[in-house]
Amino acid sequence: MDFAFSAEEDELRTSIQAFIKEHLSEEIKRDLQETVVGQGYTPVSLKLLGMIRDRGWSAVSWPKKYGGQARGRIAQFIVEEEFHRAAGLGVGGGGTGAPAILASGSEAQKDAFIPGSIKMEIVFCQGYSEPHCGTDLAGIRCRATRTGDKYVINGQKIYTTNAQNSTHIFLMVRTDPQSRRHAGLSVLLVPMNLPGITVRPLWTIQHDPRAPSVTTYAEPRTNEVFFDNVEVSVDSLLGEEGDGWRVAQRGLNLDRVGARRYLISVMRDEDIVNHLKSGDEVTEEKRNDPRVRDKVAELWIEAQVCRLMTMRSLSIEENGGNFAYEGSAEKVFAPEHGVRSTEAISQILGPYAQLLNGSPLAINEGVFAHNLLGAFQSTVNHGSVQVMRDQVARKGLGMPRQKA
Ligand SMILES: Cc1cc2nc3c(=O)[nH]c(=O)nc-3n(C[C@H](O)[C@H](O)[C@H](O)COP(=O)(O)OP(=O)(O)OC[C@H]3O[C@@H](n4cnc5c(N)ncnc54)[C@H](O)[C@@H]3O)c2cc1C
Repeated sequence: MDFAFSAEEDELRTSIQAFIKEHLSEEIKRDLQETVVGQGYTPVSLKLLGMIRDRGWSAVSWPKKYGGQARGRIAQFIVEEEFHRAAGLGVGGGGTGAPAILASGSEAQKDAFIPGSIKMEIVFCQGYSEPHCGTDLAGIRCRATRTGDKYVINGQKIYTTNAQNSTHIFLMVRTDPQSRRHAGLSVLLVPMNLPGITVRPLWTIQHDPRAPSVTTYAEPRTNEVFFDNVEVSVDSLLGEEGDGWRVAQRGLNLDRVGARRYLISVMRDEDIVNHLKSGDEVTEEKRNDPRVRDKVAELWIEAQVCRLMTMRSLSIEENGGNFAYEGSAEKVFAPEHGVRSTEAISQILGPYAQLLNGSPLAINEGVFAHNLLGAFQSTVNHGSVQVMRDQVARKGLGMPRQKA
């Protein structure tokens, strides 16, 4: 097995690193980190993102026809990896909803949404979860009733991250009122500025005290979104009516896999090791403790496994396959590694590492404590680890569906 990148891929990485060196000052990085924790784009961030876009790196794997570079998923991985490592920046095209439109959309939808997504004039939030169903999405109640050439939407979504900054929502609804479970669901691409849509903030555990910007999963806010007789054209339907389950599964899988998830693990481990090497309150005795050394080495090895799992999924996709259970396995391993590593540093550094931002005795503005909080939420969002395990058992190992 050869894990080496091609000469062309190495060249791409070198040119991104040169760009980062030239343009990402500490001031811009700080500004971007504020953006990352849900402030919306500032003019400084927008200018930098515009430069990245002009170089073709915002949608490196998307087809040329819609403004992408058609360079494949490994190239996208390299772009994601370099920008995330340098500034926690989600550049490359994953997590935007656009891959789902490319996979299931009509030509008109691709023309309408993909170039706008590249320019960041169109930003999607994801409207799956509802108050009574998150894991069990087949229980969706938000409904869209077809009347002539329109759907009329009524219902509620919850945990809709970034709804306050989004132009559109990728909305899963029940279009067949008689249907049960997975049948009769559809996905609509709905503008957020329509009459009848209300967005209400739902503050997360990282909001007060506010997690320092270098925290992983520092998002201070998610949302509730209400739909009250919202009318959209039938052209908003993504894929076939009633086929929303398949459309959404494919979209979610495409968004699940990318450099970011593994880098979150690796960078958190690096922070831990760096702190153990030079942190003021870390004693020589602790640095030399074989239990501490064994633990950080073990965590680092796990982080490399996260990277290999990501590369495997991307390689399957690059070769036209569907990483149905491989993406789920990755979604179990990386978040649980995050919990193990944030717990380990908390145990190694002792009680002060559990103090949150704002406490005068907190270590590094409480980042280790906030990382610990963030790690737990990552085991739930985007599909909980328990359910991902079930996917691996069924789709990967061929086990029968579990009887209720
Ligand atoms: C910070 C954050 C951001 C989010 N952003 C979004 C977003 O932008 N858009 C969106 O649509 N959703 C979003 N979510 C929602 C997320 O996808 C759901 O929280 C997740 O799917 C779990 O659903 P739930 O919260 O209803 O928990 P539940 O479904 O009630 O699950 C609770 C627990 O029970 C377990 N469980 C449930 N069913 C089974 C089963 N069959 N077998 C074994 N165990 C089971 C789960 O694994 C979990 O541990 C976000 C969540 C968080 C925390």
